[in-house]
Amino acid sequence: MPRVIIIGGGWAGCGAALAAKKAGADVVLLEKTDMLLGCGLVGGIMRNNGRYTAAEEAIALGAGELFDIADATARHHNVNFPGHSHATLYDVTKIEPRVREFLLNLGIEIRFQARAVDVKMKGKTITGIILSDDEVVEGDVFVETTGSSGPVGNCLKYGHGCCMCVQRCPAFGPRVSISKKAGVEDLVGKRSPDLCGAMSGSCKLNKESLGDEIRRELEEKGVVVIELPEKFIHKEKLSMKVCQQYALEEYARSIILLDTGYAKLMTPFFKLEELRKIKGFENARFEDPYAASKGNSIRYMSMAPRDDFMKVQGVENLFCAGEKSGPVVGHTEAICTGILAGHNAVRKALKIEMLKLPRELAIGDFIAFVNEEVKKPEGLYRRYTFAGALYFERMKKLGLYLTEKEAIKEKVSRLGLSGIFNENIVVNEGKR
Ligand SMILES: Cc1cc2nc3c(=O)[nH]c(=O)nc-3n(C[C@H](O)[C@H](O)[C@H](O)COP(=O)(O)OP(=O)(O)OC[C@H]3O[C@@H](n4cnc5c(N)ncnc54)[C@H](O)[C@@H]3O)c2cc1C
Repeated sequence: MPRVIIIGGGWAGCGAALAAKKAGADVVLLEKTDMLLGCGLVGGIMRNNGRYTAAEEAIALGAGELFDIADATARHHNVNFPGHSHATLYDVTKIEPRVREFLLNLGIEIRFQARAVDVKMKGKTITGIILSDDEVVEGDVFVETTGSSGPVGNCLKYGHGCCMCVQRCPAFGPRVSISKKAGVEDLVGKRSPDLCGAMSGSCKLNKESLGDEIRRELEEKGVVVIELPEKFIHKEKLSMKVCQQYALEEYARSIILLDTGYAKLMTPFFKLEELRKIKGFENARFEDPYAASKGNSIRYMSMAPRDDFMKVQGVENLFCAGEKSGPVVGHTEAICTGILAGHNAVRKALKIEMLKLPRELAIGDFIAFVNEEVKKPEGLYRRYTFAGALYFERMKKLGLYLTEKEAIKEKVSRLGLSGIFNENIVVNEGKR
């Protein structure tokens, strides 16, 4: 049985683990902290705009379980907020144990506090991952899903340290670019010609610290929009966010809160003294470990060049997904790239043709489009998401944005791909 090693337990790593296991591999997931989901522990927004289509495509392709868990732990369904329709808001305080239990029940070995620091190579093939305690974890194929946050040095040099990040590098050790250790030059995201990386997006307020009226409305509707007085409007902050899908004027003109278990503040970072001058926020506090008065941990400093199979170029047996695979933003984007990477890792191990998702599907087009974009000089200045900005506009223009479940299912079926990720390739190849 092929052994697939996945490095990084964020949404992309969980997606890759799920798909590799379903395809029949023996799967080990290495995670440097004590929790799964990485940035997914601070997010929560799914199914907004084109993410709805991508989630339904993944379900029709046979790898929808993580979307089902997110839906099942949602505090709110079908929420509309400025520029965004039909969002699901999962509860960030409840989802991690559910995902963990699900992956363990599938028989995936998850190793926590297992930080990858280097690789063992034979020519252009990785034979093992070296952990910080010198243990070598051997495997046939590897998937890097270490995200793009950190290490601390980058967050301090280009941002304000660990603000908004939950990956706790000071406690669990920094992120390491595994593809670089394997000899592949990183792609670096840009903010301006002389500034690297991009700042993290929204932050969280403690719900109990808000006024009763705001808290009640938030819990009832999932969203609260409060117009700001002119003196507190800082439009210049919009261009600094990773999440270009929320860089709309409404996000500077108003406080927009979403209920994800915390009160997720969609307005870019806000000085606490200013925030407390607004009615209902007199006692507001940011949730630890966020330091949102200042804003900014840094992401997109080390991505890997890859093909549309999600294989890292220049290494025989390394795949990548999520933020590691390009300037992509979002849980949905991480899961969708992760499932393809995990599935193809098994095909690679079996030496059979790998799967490329067709461009008639939003997921297939997204994977190919981002790959084309990062090769252009301006491509590394942009972030790509099904939920807004450039890529959502493209989805609408090309007719890829569908919200009818049956139509999406029918399309996947017409392409001959229904349930493709459900196939146990290892068993089926053995019978051939
Ligand atoms: C504050 C904030 C709010 C956000 N809100 C949303 C939202 O509401 N909706 C949405 O769709 N997106 C949101 N995003 C973006 C989204 O969370 C990310 O794009 C996505 O979750 C990235 O997933 P990933 O798996 O690629 O990477 P990550 O989530 O960064 O996961 C990487 C994992 O790898 C582990 N790791 C790193 N290095 C090593 C190593 N050397 N060895 C072992 N393990 C390692 C890390 O600990 C981590 O668990 C938000 C991001 C931030 C920062």
